[in-house]
Amino acid sequence: MKKIAENRLPELYQALSAERKLYLPLEEGGVVGYGLYSPEKKTALTAPSTVKSPKELFFPQVEGVVNFQMQGKNIDILPIEMPKEDFVVMGVRACDVRSFDVLDRVFLSDPVDGYYAARREHGTIVSLACDQPQNSCFCEAFGIDAAAPAGDVRCFIREGVLYWQALTDKGQALTDSLFGLLEEAGPAGQEQQEAFTAETKEKLQALPYHGLDLSAFTPDRLGELFHDPKWKKLSQACLGCGSCTFVCPTCQCYDVRDFDTGHGIQRYRCWDSCMYSDFTMMAHGTPRPTQLEKFRQRFMHKLVYFPSNNEGMYSCVGCGRCVRKCPIHMHIVKVIKALGGKKDE
Ligand code: SF4
Ligand code: SF4
Repeated sequence: MKKIAENRLPELYQALSAERKLYLPLEEGGVVGYGLYSPEKKTALTAPSTVKSPKELFFPQVEGVVNFQMQGKNIDILPIEMPKEDFVVMGVRACDVRSFDVLDRVFLSDPVDGYYAARREHGTIVSLACDQPQNSCFCEAFGIDAAAPAGDVRCFIREGVLYWQALTDKGQALTDSLFGLLEEAGPAGQEQQEAFTAETKEKLQALPYHGLDLSAFTPDRLGELFHDPKWKKLSQACLGCGSCTFVCPTCQCYDVRDFDTGHGIQRYRCWDSCMYSDFTMMAHGTPRPTQLEKFRQRFMHKLVYFPSNNEGMYSCVGCGRCVRKCPIHMHIVKVIKALGGKKDE
């Protein structure tokens, strides 16, 4: 394990960004989100969360897929180059690191999504353990350890020192590239890690959603959960705004659209939301015309359909973003509790 004093983080950022792009939480106008580092930006590495997840660095909200250029009757197809620049994402929390396992299942399964695969290949994830989990967090329910995130490099900060541990070959290569900037943490690093883990565990146990019970969400209860009359009440105030899907690190639906430039077509894909009224609209209409059906689809997919097809892996990571962002305060925790979570709440 290595270490560097917290007050030397600007030096670390400079070194990390010298040979590749560095993305990390930045604060702008009171909003914290992942952005491209440059020395004049206001970094917010220790902010408890970001509004949007780092998902968009691997699966952008909008990206071109192909261009068509037209001249008279000729149409030239101009492919978009695959991403090929190395980059580092620093400060990724345990829940968001897990979200890449979910996205990998979708985008790296046959047929592989070349754009996502290229970014996964070129991106190195430096995670940061949580020392201040929020009241809306419940990653623990999905077996995620907030104090020991995965990633290529795992970091935690305690008593003014950032500890750095490479977990993969990619993480080791990044560590080696930092030359003498990081010092050996020695046995004290292990002691600090144990103390950090114990403190975080205590904080997690004090959270309002500690002990959230997911045991009711099993494939054999699919029919029962699907037909549960509680969906009506749960969904009736939903605005269909899609905020929950746009902040979610695991939502992966997208639409493909064409933009007419006047002398050609730009074909792009952009995030879509199962909560929108025109989602999967076809000539005959949409397969889920009511808000109840759309609402149910989102939560059944996260809690039942996805785990049924992915060895029990839920497609929620308990990041709490939808809890914080839904304008009507309806979210996955309420759904879990209503349909089979803790019976005493
Ligand atoms: S459903 Fe909500 S809590 Fe779960 S991963 Fe998505 S935004 Fe986070
Ligand atoms: S954020 Fe809330 S209101 Fe908006 S679509 Fe999601 S559940 Fe419905």
